Amino acid sequence: MPKKHLPFESVSRRDLLKFGVGAGVVGPLALTAGSVKAINTKVHVVIVGAGAGGISMANRLTNSLQGAKITIIDTREKHYYQPGWTLVASGVWNKDKTVTDIVDWLPKSVNWVKGMVAEYDPDNNRVLLEDGQTVNYDQLIVASGLQLRYDLIQGMDVDLIGKGKGVGSVYASIDAAAATNDEIKRWISKGSGTGLFNLPPTALKCAGAPLKMTFTTLHRLEDTGRRDQFNVEFMTPSGGLFGVPFYNDFIKQRFSDQGVKRNDLWTLKAIDADAKKATYSVKGGEDQVKDYDFIHVVPPMTAGAALENSPLAFQPGESFTGWMKVDRETLQNTSYANVWGIGDVMGMPSNKTAASVKMHAKVLEENFLASLQGKPLTAKHNGYTSCPMITAIGKAMLVEFGWDSKLLPSFSFIDPKQESWTVWVMKERMLRPAYYAMLEGKI
Ligand SMILES: Cc1cc2nc3c(=O)[nH]c(=O)nc-3n(C[C@H](O)[C@H](O)[C@H](O)COP(=O)(O)OP(=O)(O)OC[C@H]3O[C@@H](n4cnc5c(N)ncnc54)[C@H](O)[C@@H]3O)c2cc1C
Repeated sequence: MPKKHLPFESVSRRDLLKFGVGAGVVGPLALTAGSVKAINTKVHVVIVGAGAGGISMANRLTNSLQGAKITIIDTREKHYYQPGWTLVASGVWNKDKTVTDIVDWLPKSVNWVKGMVAEYDPDNNRVLLEDGQTVNYDQLIVASGLQLRYDLIQGMDVDLIGKGKGVGSVYASIDAAAATNDEIKRWISKGSGTGLFNLPPTALKCAGAPLKMTFTTLHRLEDTGRRDQFNVEFMTPSGGLFGVPFYNDFIKQRFSDQGVKRNDLWTLKAIDADAKKATYSVKGGEDQVKDYDFIHVVPPMTAGAALENSPLAFQPGESFTGWMKVDRETLQNTSYANVWGIGDVMGMPSNKTAASVKMHAKVLEENFLASLQGKPLTAKHNGYTSCPMITAIGKAMLVEFGWDSKLLPSFSFIDPKQESWTVWVMKERMLRPAYYAMLEGKI
């Protein structure tokens, strides 16, 4: 572990008490599931996807609906605490810390169908699965997250990650996150060379993760005492680094201070892993080829074929084409009143994070119950999202914002524009219990 990783014990007890270990960490934005009164109904609710959003809704609705049938559809058996993957890929956490069994999070009364939705048929209130099954519903909640499209980068294959060819990617899986750490270690032990860090040309989950990977790697390079032997470059397809102007400027300045060369309007197009070369398309210019010793690949991300090709998606010509179409405040599909969205799958001007899922779940539950009772949908999502932006191993900033990049700080004692050890501790020690409380529908 890098030497600047200070021990947890150095955090003041006062700060810990202020945060409130575990569930209390969500601060003033937390709203308890208990605030919703249970209703009697025979409705059949189908949830697509047993990730952060799907499990949270299964738990919430089990508590708030009496007599309902709840079905969840997903083949995946394991649940991954994805916000921990940057810590794994940075050599701070062991990968086992992020893996649990989905069965342990689902209420026993929930009917779990092991399958993947291949087609949405909202005109007939049904979904068709890849294995040929049909599942009918009265109400549908789409929580299918997003798809990682490594296949859109020529020559890229997730099997290349961590195979000694300098290819890393924190996104692909927990094993890939751990293998990315190994690949970074191999590069550092060479004592010199070029590292290329990338952003994708699409929306992405945790838009801070590619930046966090750059900052923790810089920290590790600086720890060698030979930082000048390493060349670090960062590629941005849009020219921007982060959606909120203050943080965008902050990161640009920090990159400049830490000797990171930015290549704006460059999009990763192909890699040749054997030759360790990456090809970039450059907006308004010729393609460029770069040699690398390490490359952090961040793939394009989409909502997935089943959703994209369905009437539930934003259509070509609309903003957020291919992502799930919902009213961004009520989370109800704008064409089908019995279809709802939660999490990364939705098209909206907000960062795709677990922190957003926490807010979605509360709003969705309230509006869903109101709709079942024929009441108006009064709960409104304010666009809240958050990301502890790791700026070094042992330092982070608590980035929290809503629609139009408006800062929405939760804690009076944390300056959202300052890095601190306290926010690092929050990320490293306290967000995982809060996340698990969210899965259980408790916050
Ligand atoms: C490296 C990394 C770092 C991150 N860091 C943070 C962070 O610091 N803070 C933060 O708040 N968030 C962070 N996130 C983001 C966070 O993990 C996601 O935003 C969150 O998990 C989204 O929840 P979800 O339910 O929409 O999707 P997921 O949790 O990804 O779950 C989607 C589920 O849907 C299933 N599915 C997909 N397609 C289908 C189908 N057709 N049929 C049935 N099931 C399907 C999948 O198998 C999966 O189980 C990070 C993510 C990554 C990868």
